[in-house]
Amino acid sequence: MTKRDYYEVLSLGKSAGTDEIKKAYRKLALQYHPDRNKGDKEAEEKFKEAAEAYEVLSDGEKRKVYDRFGHAGLQQQGFTGFRNFDDIFSSFGDVFEEFFGFGGNRSNRVRKGPDLRMDLSIDFLEAAFGKETEFEVSKHEPCEACHGLGTKGGAQPSVCSTCGGRGQVTRSQGFFSISTTCPTCQGGGTVVTDPCEKCGGVGRVLISKKLSLKIPPGVESGSRLRLNGEGEPGDFGAPSGDLYVYLNVRPHEIFKREGDDVVVLTPIGFATATLGGEVEVPTLEGTEKIQIPKATQAGQNFRIPGKGIPHLRGRGRGDLISVVYIQTPKDINQEQEELLRRLAEIEGERVTVKKKGFFSRKK
Ligand SMILES: [Zn+2]
Ligand SMILES: [Zn+2]
Repeated sequence: MTKRDYYEVLSLGKSAGTDEIKKAYRKLALQYHPDRNKGDKEAEEKFKEAAEAYEVLSDGEKRKVYDRFGHAGLQQQGFTGFRNFDDIFSSFGDVFEEFFGFGGNRSNRVRKGPDLRMDLSIDFLEAAFGKETEFEVSKHEPCEACHGLGTKGGAQPSVCSTCGGRGQVTRSQGFFSISTTCPTCQGGGTVVTDPCEKCGGVGRVLISKKLSLKIPPGVESGSRLRLNGEGEPGDFGAPSGDLYVYLNVRPHEIFKREGDDVVVLTPIGFATATLGGEVEVPTLEGTEKIQIPKATQAGQNFRIPGKGIPHLRGRGRGDLISVVYIQTPKDINQEQEELLRRLAEIEGERVTVKKKGFFSRKK
């Protein structure tokens, strides 16, 4: 493979000055930057070629050798160009910082977009058994028309003329020179002179996106689910942030959660409580019959193993805990009333009869 002339690579004349060289390289580096040309081999080669040309022409000694002896002269001195991106970024750390507003270190350079948060309310039983749900989220996506660059047709943005692409302007005041963020480009170094019509030059558009979410069984209020890469997009094609869905579980009418156990109040009659018997207990899936022993007291617990909430991590489920209470009958017939008063007599209780109620029922 023959190497192109470095001046030709940067489209410069032999007498180009330091600023011109920098400017020319900056333009190419932006255009062929790997973050903007994911997986594009040709762009990768162009990016490397420009970096190599800049490395030589911006260095007085190397440029002298190159001017006199060409590529062969540099090779003799042991200059072999760059092997990969990391090589380029580690050599030009400061230059990239100046150009793009971030460091040359690749790991620092890639800045993920911001995360998003949304809240989702679900029912008690949906939390218990999981659910697949769909919802819409309002977020930004890189503008398709300009590939996120904000320029008409996705053209390369122009270098800011106020600061020459440095992003900073320096003013002299007496003996001092003060550098401030360039007011024209706000430090970005580029300006969009012909903005994209679709996004108005912002490079991103607000969209409403339908997402599906798989809620696993066993979640509870405050559980957080992450949707990778569904946050806001990053700059210069950097990966998007994540979307965090915070769950709120609506309370249930009869079930109450305690860890992975579920507590349910179960009414039983006085006779059943006293004599023992079979009671039907509501469960998350239906009902279950349990045997309660003689002389069961109000507030006593009966545990039905494995009928609670499925464990979010690991297998198995919590228990269903039935807490019984004695239901006092509201309406009894004459026979029941007589029996109860007979019972009270045996127990030696004094029962004051509410006359009116007693006689009116008798009629
Ligand atoms: Zn500027
Ligand atoms: Zn656009």
